[in-house]
Amino acid sequence: MAKKEKILIIGSGLSGMSAGRVLSASGYQVTILDKGFRCGGRFATRRIDAFSFDHGTPYFYPSQIPEALKDMRTESFLKNWPEDVPEKDEGEAALVSLPAMRSFPEALGRGLDIQQNVQIKKLSFDDDMFIAESGDASYGPYDAVLLTAPGPQTADLIEGLQPIGADLLKAARKVTYTPQFSVLVGYDFLRDAPALIHNPTPKIAKIVNQAKKPERPDKSAFVAFCSPEWSFENLDRPKEEVAQIILEDMQKALSPHGFTSEMLNNPAYLAAHSWRYARLETSAGLSPEAQIDTTSALAVAGDWIMLPDTHGALTSGIEAARQIETKLSRS
Ligand SMILES: Cc1cc2nc3c(=O)[nH]c(=O)nc-3n(C[C@H](O)[C@H](O)[C@H](O)COP(=O)(O)OP(=O)(O)OC[C@H]3O[C@@H](n4cnc5c(N)ncnc54)[C@H](O)[C@@H]3O)c2cc1C
Repeated sequence: MAKKEKILIIGSGLSGMSAGRVLSASGYQVTILDKGFRCGGRFATRRIDAFSFDHGTPYFYPSQIPEALKDMRTESFLKNWPEDVPEKDEGEAALVSLPAMRSFPEALGRGLDIQQNVQIKKLSFDDDMFIAESGDASYGPYDAVLLTAPGPQTADLIEGLQPIGADLLKAARKVTYTPQFSVLVGYDFLRDAPALIHNPTPKIAKIVNQAKKPERPDKSAFVAFCSPEWSFENLDRPKEEVAQIILEDMQKALSPHGFTSEMLNNPAYLAAHSWRYARLETSAGLSPEAQIDTTSALAVAGDWIMLPDTHGALTSGIEAARQIETKLSRS
């Protein structure tokens, strides 16, 4: 049944989308605002020049989808990949989404009011209602707000609301992430190479072959995920330089598969993406009940709440949605 309360969610990543799905199913009026060009946050895909690069999460596992969303595990846009390399000890095959990794958050948010390219810079709270401001426009009023940006970015938004959300601010300020570079390399030819190459050099943690993923363009294309150590040491290096260094390093991994240096040195597309908040290092350690402010309907979610990765992001979104529902039903 439709409810009158309006809820704003900041962030269209997995945590924001899972919360939005739950709250919308309960009848609330949900708006999601996100600063990115496309939805999905770190479930990211760059499509350019006939290439498709999943430069955020490359794949995940069915067991990372929580029970509350288990109907999604069998959706046809999720496919096992790579079919021949089960990576987890228990032999669980990995999943990718079709036609791109961001198709998974897109599916979670289907039917919701989602606006991209909106960066919220300020929140205010007056007369029990929240207003959000982007600099160009003002959004609201809202009965509840859920913040799902990585901990340090969420803390910056809560700061301006003080004394509202003091405990959430303290928790979010504790959170740290490791940065990571993803280097995207695409060629105008197709040549066979392994689906995944793990730890080929000290600079590269993993190379993921995009052409081996189902429903991706038939051209040789790779995403090299740099090691956290190398990414950290080189964070201030210009991205063009990072791309070139990693391209040279990739030759060691790909030459045994028939890629000559002449082939590799002339990519049709080469770019580095820098993730400042890539993988969680220190979590806030918040229980579900502590994801909501004690005095207002301000809540937080994200992979920084308790558990890292896909599972933590989805679970925290669902828990935050439940906490908001409980708070609004009491007011
Ligand atoms: C390179 C890389 C590899 C990874 N590999 C794996 C893996 O193999 N397995 C795995 O499980 N996980 C992996 N992860 C982690 C996984 O992607 C994240 O844990 C998960 O996607 C986090 O979702 P989230 O919703 O918490 O945050 P995010 O996806 O970061 O979403 C937050 C959203 O908030 C938006 N935002 C921020 N500030 C504002 C603002 N002021 N106004 C409006 N919008 C704002 C951002 O644009 C973003 O869309 C990887 C991440 C990276 C970067």
